[in-house]
Amino acid sequence: MFVRRLLALLPVSLFLLQTISAQDPKPPLTERPNLTVAPKSPPTPTPPPITFNSVHVDGPYIALTFDDGPNATLTPKLLDLLAAHHLKATFFVVGQNAADHPDILKRAVREGHEIGNHSWSHPNLGKMSDEAVRRELQKTDDAITAAIGKRPTLMRPPYGSITTRQKNWIHQEFGYRIIIWDVDPLDWKRPGPSVVTSRILKETHAGSIVLSHDIHPPTIEAMPATFDQLEKKGFKSVTVTELIAMATPLPPKPVASPSAPRAEPVATTPAPVRPPPAPTNTPGG
Ligand SMILES: [Zn+2]
Repeated sequence: MFVRRLLALLPVSLFLLQTISAQDPKPPLTERPNLTVAPKSPPTPTPPPITFNSVHVDGPYIALTFDDGPNATLTPKLLDLLAAHHLKATFFVVGQNAADHPDILKRAVREGHEIGNHSWSHPNLGKMSDEAVRRELQKTDDAITAAIGKRPTLMRPPYGSITTRQKNWIHQEFGYRIIIWDVDPLDWKRPGPSVVTSRILKETHAGSIVLSHDIHPPTIEAMPATFDQLEKKGFKSVTVTELIAMATPLPPKPVASPSAPRAEPVATTPAPVRPPPAPTNTPGG
């Protein structure tokens, strides 16, 4: 019955199709709209993010980062401490220091750490011409490559100062991801090792990117206790690139029903979304 009705309708459909075709001003065959099934264009994938303040991860992983070195005495001391605790770190190096101490960079990479570009002379990139920024980054990229035999893939702007436009062209031209931070103990103000430790412990959660500087002696003094206590809390430090590789999608916003309890509550606490630090002249980063 149903089939017969369908068959009866067929000539009508064909007639309609023909009518539509006749009205068509005959565009080239390839451009003709498909009248039967309108294929949905595949969803355009959102481009991967360029900038990271923290990473949403399903595990107790964090990235410890150290800026402005390498320093002839403090960075090797820090490398000893990291090795003793089996922690990996990322060093955002100032190009002129990297050029002075290539052997320290070599050692860092040999021991599993990562090197990122932190400009040549630590200027406020957000206020500079593209050409000047390009020179700062290229010279540093060259110094790092000369030291460790491979190009860096991360950069951190001094003071966190960088415009959206700069992020985009720097990413396109150098392929860098732009790494900011979500934990800042303000160690450059030298508040004393115990304050540095307690600030880091208080603010760090799974997926955090922790900022410190390996050019201040009290920061290095703060690290044994910091590392001990991070370990006690179950945190594991990996390089920034490793942390980004672990990224998992953020959970959907409305929490309808509580999900199954997980083994490691520390690890699964979603990272609070924080605005990136405003471009300022403060010496953070
Ligand atoms: Zn810096």
